[in-house]
Parts: sequence; structure tokens; C-alpha cells
Amino acid sequence: MLTTWLFERSDYLRPILLRQDPAAQQQLIAIYQFLKVAVEFAATGGRSRRRFLARVRRIEALNEDTAYRAISSEATDMDAVRVMTIHGSKGLEFRGVHLPGLATTYMPSNRQAVRVPPPSLDRLAMTSDDHDHEEQSLFFVALSRARDHLALSRAERYTPSRKSSPSKFLALLAGLSSRNRAAGPAAHAKRGLARATAPALSYGEDALGVYINCPARYGYKVKDGLLGGPESSAYVRFHACVYDTVGWLEDQRAAGTTAGVADTLAHFTADWAEHGPIKHPFQKYYRAIGMQMVTRMAEAVIGETGHYDRREWLVNLDGRKVAVTPDRVIIATDGCVTIQRVRTGKKTKSESDKEIYALLRLGARQLYPGRRITVEAYYLGTGERMVPPLKDDGKLLERYSEAIAGIESGDFGPKTGRSCPGCPYYLTCGG
Ligand code: SF4
Repeated sequence: MLTTWLFERSDYLRPILLRQDPAAQQQLIAIYQFLKVAVEFAATGGRSRRRFLARVRRIEALNEDTAYRAISSEATDMDAVRVMTIHGSKGLEFRGVHLPGLATTYMPSNRQAVRVPPPSLDRLAMTSDDHDHEEQSLFFVALSRARDHLALSRAERYTPSRKSSPSKFLALLAGLSSRNRAAGPAAHAKRGLARATAPALSYGEDALGVYINCPARYGYKVKDGLLGGPESSAYVRFHACVYDTVGWLEDQRAAGTTAGVADTLAHFTADWAEHGPIKHPFQKYYRAIGMQMVTRMAEAVIGETGHYDRREWLVNLDGRKVAVTPDRVIIATDGCVTIQRVRTGKKTKSESDKEIYALLRLGARQLYPGRRITVEAYYLGTGERMVPPLKDDGKLLERYSEAIAGIESGDFGPKTGRSCPGCPYYLTCGG
């Protein structure tokens, strides 16, 4: 009925079709999209006009119009600019994107207080850190809408009396030169290999670990230097405070004093106040677990004899050097060497299959030839020690060699998996 009225009975379309300007073209696209909704509604057996209009209202109210916001193939050559919010652009892609307003107070926007906080869910209330992470994700959503060209801008002033300053998110792009988005790591995978790079003096074990898990993630994080939000997540900060206290305990021993549990907790508390996730809703729980862990470590250190030899190792591997700093190296009075990997998480079945144990065994043999060597994991949560059974170290070390070869040949293809949704580059990655 609607199409009969539009195309046969009324003159509604005639003036629009006679005009050639972008506004008329936009009107035609809107009518086309409206008809698409109508056809889909009819296909489900819908006949009621009231229900159809309710469906249209629902699409608008619940922002369910992504499928209709995409430009139809007939309109892709239209000479026009589309203005939309970042939220509204989710799921869409354009040849060129201009992102204005990249100034303080606009991106990230000022956090609005919750007007009516839910009475019993105060732990879930959004903190300023959460707000910043959310805004940062939005920023990356906006950046990743551009296929070929991306322009970022801000005004010198947004009010007559105040100069604007650049958005802090722009610092995340520092070091990136302007270039075609097709040069990104995911695009390399689609188009083949990126340009090969010269061998580095040494490769960090942690960076190689990132490459082994996903070359594209390495490309974003290490090669392009893009920082992701989760780097400063509550768990990472909790972890860093525990590790800092473990290092401090050894420094105390090296300086000739053995710190007791009370001193250790005092150090941890001071570190927590400065670097811990103090605004996180679960900070109380993180802190309590951290205190248990450093107490356990302090008790273990008090019972140890010998001395510590923690420093960065440069492990020779197939003509390249891999830099790794073991968590703990304990040289017993009889000369035996124990290399400990300190774990704050739970023991997993796959822990002993990790290539880092093979690297630590190789490095220890190179640094302490002829000594008895033990490489083990120490779980701060339980106090358990686990000596990974000897594996085929050659095979495990091959993972590092292959990663180095991949980096040097410029292969940064995505390796998708279950961890992708938690990856800081999930929204920009084309994998
Ligand atoms: S989203 Fe997945 S494939 Fe893409 S970089 Fe992250 S881990 Fe790799």
C-alpha cells in the first residue's frame, strides 16, 4: 500500500526526484531505508500499521538502526558529508573520517555524576578511571571508522575567554606518522608481509611473548607503540605493587638487613597508596590478597640462606640475544642456583609448557656453567613451588626463534582466539 501510494498515486516523490542536490539525495536514501524497514516488517507477517510505527519508534529509541545507517551501495558515490556521534558510527566504515574536538573536556568528556545511583550497587558505580577507559575505547572506535583518510583536529578556543589544550588521548598516537590505514598490522596480513626490519640488538622476552600469542598485537603494541587501556588495569597495578615489594625484600637482604613481616607490610602499604588501584571498587579485596602474598614472601625470604643475583640476562639464542630478567635468582651457600618465576595467579595445567622456562634454563646454563640449577615457579597465593618437568627445550625455544624471524621479516598477521575480546586493540584490529 505504501509503495503504491508513493510510486503510483501521489506526487510526493516528483519534486525530490527533480532536484539533484545532496539534500534531495539524502531524502531519497531515507525513503529507501524506510521502505527497507517496511519490507522486513511485512516479511515477518506484520500487517498492523500501529505495530509498524511502534517498530520504527523502537529502532530510533533503542538505537537499533546500525543496519539502516550503513550507506546503501547505490549511494556510496554521493558527494556529501555525514555527521554523527561516535556511538552512532559503531559498526560503520568510511573512506575518510574527520574527528574534531580533540581537546581537554571534549575527549575525554567531563565525567557526569550519576544522578540517581542504584541503592545497592555502589561497588559497580563508575569511577573516573572506568570513565577514562570507556572514553579511550570510544576514541579508538572513532579512529578505526576510517578506511583511507583520517583527520584529527581541535579548535584553538571553544570559548572566547579560554584557550583549549590537546586531548590527552593524542599522546597515545605519539610517534605515529600520518599514513594510510592500510599500513596497519592487520592490513599487512591481508596484503602479505610488511617491510622487513633490521635485526635488533636484543629482543625482550615479554615482547616476544606478545608476538608468540599474536603477531598483530605485537605490531600494535611494540612496533607502533600504541598503548592499550588494560595496561593499567586494577589487576596489573595490584601485580606491580606485589612485585615491587618482592624486589624490595631482596634489596634489603642485599643491603645486609632482613625485613620482617611488619616492615614488608608497611612498604607494601606505602607503595599501594601511590601505585595501587585505590579507586577500584574491589580495591579492598585486591589489597588484602596483596598483603597475604607479600607476607608469605617475607616469611620465605627470612628462611633463605645464600644471596641473590637478580639482573637482566642476555641469553644467546640462534645468533640473537633475548633479554630476560628472572623474578628471583637465589645462589645457595653451596653454589646451587635456583631461578624462581613468581606467580600471583592460580596454578594452571599449561604453566610448565611455557617457553619461558626453557629460556631460563638456557640462560642459567650460559651464566652459571657447571652449577646445579633449578628453575621453578613459586605461587604467592599458596606458597607452593612447582619445578616444571624437563621438556623438549629445543622445541620450546623454537617459538622465540620463529617470533624473531617473523618480526625481522615484518609478519604481523592477526592470530585470533578467545582472548581477542579482552585485547586492547580489539576494536581497531581487522583480524
Ligand atoms: S584482537 Fe585478537 S587478533 Fe587482533 S591484535 Fe588483539 S589478540 Fe590479535
